[in-house]
Amino acid sequence: MQRLFPKGSDDNSGAIKQISKRNQKTMTSQNKGNKTIYDVAICGSGLAGLTLARQLKLNKPNLSIIALDRLGEVIPETTLKVGESTVYPGAYYLSHVLQLEDYFQKNHFLKLGPRFFFGDGRGLFQERPELGLSEFPPFPESYQIDRGHLEKELRLLNQQKGVEIKQNCSVKDIELSEEPEKPHKIIYSQKDENKTNICEARWVIDAMGRRRFLQKKLGLGKPNDPNFNAVWFRVQGRIDVSDFVPIAERSWHDRVPENKRYYSTNHLCGEGYWIWLIPLASGHTSIGIVAKEEIHSFKEFHTYRLAYKWLEKYEPVLANALKEKQPADFKKMPKYSYSSSQVFSINRLATVGDAGVFPDPFYSPGMNLIGYGNSLVTQAIELDIEGKLTQEQIDKANNFYLSLNDKIAESIHNTYSVLNRPVIMTAKFIWDLVTGMPPTSLFFNSNSLLLDLDKKEEIGKNNALMSQLAERMEPFF
Ligand SMILES: Cc1cc2nc3c(=O)[nH]c(=O)nc-3n(C[C@H](O)[C@H](O)[C@H](O)COP(=O)(O)OP(=O)(O)OC[C@H]3O[C@@H](n4cnc5c(N)ncnc54)[C@H](O)[C@@H]3O)c2cc1C
Repeated sequence: MQRLFPKGSDDNSGAIKQISKRNQKTMTSQNKGNKTIYDVAICGSGLAGLTLARQLKLNKPNLSIIALDRLGEVIPETTLKVGESTVYPGAYYLSHVLQLEDYFQKNHFLKLGPRFFFGDGRGLFQERPELGLSEFPPFPESYQIDRGHLEKELRLLNQQKGVEIKQNCSVKDIELSEEPEKPHKIIYSQKDENKTNICEARWVIDAMGRRRFLQKKLGLGKPNDPNFNAVWFRVQGRIDVSDFVPIAERSWHDRVPENKRYYSTNHLCGEGYWIWLIPLASGHTSIGIVAKEEIHSFKEFHTYRLAYKWLEKYEPVLANALKEKQPADFKKMPKYSYSSSQVFSINRLATVGDAGVFPDPFYSPGMNLIGYGNSLVTQAIELDIEGKLTQEQIDKANNFYLSLNDKIAESIHNTYSVLNRPVIMTAKFIWDLVTGMPPTSLFFNSNSLLLDLDKKEEIGKNNALMSQLAERMEPFF
């Protein structure tokens, strides 16, 4: 392990010594000779990198930021990427922290919460126990996101705010500086060019997704959980659960009027698996199969042909709705869940989004974690500007973020064998909704609470009580 990214430790005796030593002037890019030294280099401009660049610019407009991505100018509306469904913390981050509420209202579907259909997928659809909202709640809102559309918009908005965007640009290496005042070096190559280039920055952020570049380089990654796999695809047009039930079943249809179930993230849950159906404003429906290896081997559904056969067996009503359709894309992701031993460092490094951790897609926590991680990085950089960033704050940030990820992973993974059981899952869903709120309160109250160690103690006490209770409830479910 390099000392550049020391493991979070409880020993904070060196904290004062490790206070970041930069002078307290506002950072802006410096020109040394003909070299620009940026304040922040964000490697990878997917959802995590782009949202971080926006948050940094909103909070500190003078920061000089370069964002590099290997993708070119054209991002397809419907990309192969997942991460389309948001829940309240992630949606709050996008709408309010990033000030994108108008954009979301105009360009993406409002989500009618998550909706679950439990029980046996082989019977009549209207007989499956259902958990979900009947009406859009007055607040808070969440969205179904077309990733391609959002990433295009964020690139544009970031450019307007002065972020230097480098497209078609592949990061080859990151040379980490060993001295507090010396910048890190990012080595990259531009598409169709036969040479490598270097850019330098005080902070370097790995937002390059599942490649987990820095984590691997520094030996911080934890192995992927081999037990959980997913595939997903998009089909043109509306695949609507309301069409799975005959119109004559009035009471079923009246329970959620005007076929609004379509706007939920619909989960078809069976033993050891769940399937998502997400409506997209582009006119596609996103469909994914997520399953536990011990119950449903990945080999049974890892191509579209096999996935369709698998659906015919376990979810024949959905298979029938897909009969005449061809997938617009298909992607598989075995062993999608992993964690890390560290994501933030006093040495001006961080890994955000999938470059850091990913617990599980059930409950759609991806955007929430991006929001929490980005906010912690933003605060760390702000504290660094003021010369106030300490090892203790970094340790707290790592501890908060990693324990949240690991608890989400454990709690969700434990439920796969009972996903078809309506009574257990309903109680668990409501319980998780309530206990999942404490981290959200950090945003709802004030974004700046996260690294405020005094206030965090206060919040920490209440969260600790909730955490202890949650640990006792978990085996019960
Ligand atoms: C099955 C599944 C379902 C999910 N569903 C949801 C959901 O419903 N809701 C939710 O919130 N989250 C969901 N997630 C999580 C979500 O997908 C991630 O949180 C999100 O996509 C992470 O974004 P990112 O920016 O970290 O990674 P990416 O979006 O993968 O971005 C990484 C970027 O880095 C660039 N890059 C890679 N290598 C290089 C390089 N060498 N040089 C330059 N650039 C590079 C890529 O081009 C890309 O643009 C799901 C995840 C899985 C596995």
